[in-house]
Amino acid sequence: MPKPVIDYKKCTKCGSCVEVCPVKVFEMEKGKPVVKKPGDCIGCRACEVNCPKGAIEVKD
Ligand code: SF4
Ligand code: SF4
Repeated sequence: MPKPVIDYKKCTKCGSCVEVCPVKVFEMEKGKPVVKKPGDCIGCRACEVNCPKGAIEVKD
């Protein structure tokens, strides 16, 4: 099961991952992205590719 992991030491809270995920795995909570629905991830890696800080890794 693919699952995105956010490295908060690198994340700038830009919100890009929330926008690009086609199945809305992420949500902004208190100004930062959280992996809200990890079970819905389809492993497309759009979040990983589009994160400007390389803060997301999609684990298989
Ligand atoms: S796209 Fe990357 S830097 Fe932007 S909020 Fe998501 S994890 Fe953070
Ligand atoms: S890999 Fe695709 S489906 Fe999974 S969280 Fe990232 S953008 Fe969403």
